[in-house]
Amino acid sequence: MNASNHTIVIKVGGGEGIDPLNLIPEIIELRDAGIRVVLVHGGSHETNQIAEQLGHPTRTIISPSGNQSRRTDKTTLDIFKMVYCGKVNKTIVEHLCRAGAHAIGLSGIDAGIWIGKRKSAIRSVENGNTMIIRDDLSGRVESVDAEFINSLLDSGLIPVLTPPAVTSDGIAINVDADRAAAATARAIGAQELLLLSNVSGLLRDPEDRTSLIDTIRGETLDLAHEAAQGRMKNKVLAAEEAILGGVSQVVIGSASGDRPIERARAGSGTRFCNEVVS
Ligand code: ADP
Repeated sequence: MNASNHTIVIKVGGGEGIDPLNLIPEIIELRDAGIRVVLVHGGSHETNQIAEQLGHPTRTIISPSGNQSRRTDKTTLDIFKMVYCGKVNKTIVEHLCRAGAHAIGLSGIDAGIWIGKRKSAIRSVENGNTMIIRDDLSGRVESVDAEFINSLLDSGLIPVLTPPAVTSDGIAINVDADRAAAATARAIGAQELLLLSNVSGLLRDPEDRTSLIDTIRGETLDLAHEAAQGRMKNKVLAAEEAILGGVSQVVIGSASGDRPIERARAGSGTRFCNEVVS
């Protein structure tokens, strides 16, 4: 494959212990090798800390199936925008620029890059009771402006993308960054999606760091869904969506340590193969 057509979407998490700046030297190397890189980031831990300082601590919604998400009321969304689109996004772009890259930081709202649908009702399990929440400002990305992202890549820019997304009628919504990264990888025809986080990959038992699942193929996809708990559930869904959407290689791996991108690309972590579709 011609290196200039090769595109990698890298999503770096915002969980405790992750430093997205750790990826910058390797992103520069990829750029120098003619590989197109889109970086998507989170910011959950920093948002939790700042929300606490601002007197509006994070509340977590747990769905009946065990999925976890941030309760996003209006104030939470304002804090979310400040941290994700402001502090985290601009710090990454600042450091990419300092390393000599031509980077641009954008949220999914900007130019309508990520158009999504707001959830009209969310079921939340609290003290064993299921409640319905109707005013949450969260949802899911449904379309990605691939043409715009490709135009940035064609201009030699490194797009650094972050939630929120926006609805078709212009309302900002909190979306899961892993699934937004997967939707982006599908839409722009990326060959690789790396979901880098604070764990070495998908663990068979989340409490046992030695129980890494190294490869997921079609017949083991159920196993992946069973193993994933809490926030890992969205990563597995994202990996599945990317693979089904034609991304050849998806890896859930670690953002920490030496050369995390090279290690993930070499399959260190949990690799999802496109035999899933068969
Ligand atoms: P990020 O913020 O990097 O996107 P998350 O915090 O959303 O990452 O998801 C990673 C977390 O998922 C891990 O730190 C771990 O606590 C949790 N987790 C739940 N189930 C698993 C599992 N089976 N394997 C690995 N991690 C898991």
